[in-house]
Amino acid sequence: PAPLLRVDDLKKHFPLRGGLLGGVTGHVYAVDGVSFDIAKGETLSLVGESGCGKSTVGKAVLRLFDITAGQVVLDGQRIDTLRQSQLRPMRRRVQVVFQDPFSSLNPRMRVRDILAEPIRNFGLAKDAADLDRRLAGLMDTVRLPRDAVGRWPHEFSGGQRQRIGIARALAAEPDLIICDEAVSALDVSVKAQIVNLLQDLQKELGLALLFISHDLAIVEHMTHRVAVMYLGKIVEVAPRRGLFAAPKHPYTQALLSAVPVPKPGAARTRIVLQGDVPSPINPPSGCRFHTRCPYVFDRCRVDEPLLKPTSPGHTAACHLHDLPADRNPLARDATP
Ligand code: SF4
Ligand code: MG
Repeated sequence: PAPLLRVDDLKKHFPLRGGLLGGVTGHVYAVDGVSFDIAKGETLSLVGESGCGKSTVGKAVLRLFDITAGQVVLDGQRIDTLRQSQLRPMRRRVQVVFQDPFSSLNPRMRVRDILAEPIRNFGLAKDAADLDRRLAGLMDTVRLPRDAVGRWPHEFSGGQRQRIGIARALAAEPDLIICDEAVSALDVSVKAQIVNLLQDLQKELGLALLFISHDLAIVEHMTHRVAVMYLGKIVEVAPRRGLFAAPKHPYTQALLSAVPVPKPGAARTRIVLQGDVPSPINPPSGCRFHTRCPYVFDRCRVDEPLLKPTSPGHTAACHLHDLPADRNPLARDATP
């Protein structure tokens, strides 16, 4: 079947202005040729360090700005080319949960009004009784007491506010929710609760999730697939198990080095990244990771690696996979 969301060679370059005349002096290559798809009911996690462009991908899918090049296709329809006046149906179907549960809820609105807004905007309630039924249902769905709708955002903890944020997203009856660092600001124990809630909702409601996170540990137990981004590009896409058991890109391996291993003895290859992420204004030639990669060789500095399959459903963009297996440190298929 056709994917729910298809992103094809997406580019978003932000012009930099400066000089005496305020002309364009360069570009921030925030997203520079990103492709992926998400099936109905699937969770895809987009991970990478801050500044790698993952939030920009989310915003492009939400149509918060015009993209520089590429396509964003929702259920067979291109949404990157729609005019503002044509965006309403798509706005209902793709919702977002933001990082900060303290700034994302209007402090001057009761929970009832926060949730009623999308229901009214999209004309989803038949009448006042239906609206009340929907509000009660949303509270049940996010595991908050029904009388919470009469209260104000400041009366809730961070985790509870994030449940309200999720309820607001669900109020629109979306097919896809973009969670942009949705649990990053929460305490460790609360993080797990919200991740579990999202996972339950994903199963119960058949929702698709684009789960954007800088933290691979968060997605280890909840996602179907993972796409790893570095400096505006996806460097690896894999089913969750394959990615965690046998990463095929040195950058993924480095990110995983920082994730605690659940089973003692199942050691992961440790790579500690040298230096900072280079600037997206002037990304390195060839493989963008070559300035930090422990396996760098001559070809990496001149030739850009493309995403290629390394095993079924698993792709990586690294020249190591063109070498004979005995010279490729990432050739093994699983932790021994
Ligand atoms: Fe490292 Fe080269 Fe692979 Fe890039 S292509 S990740 S520099 S080995
Ligand atoms: Mg971000």
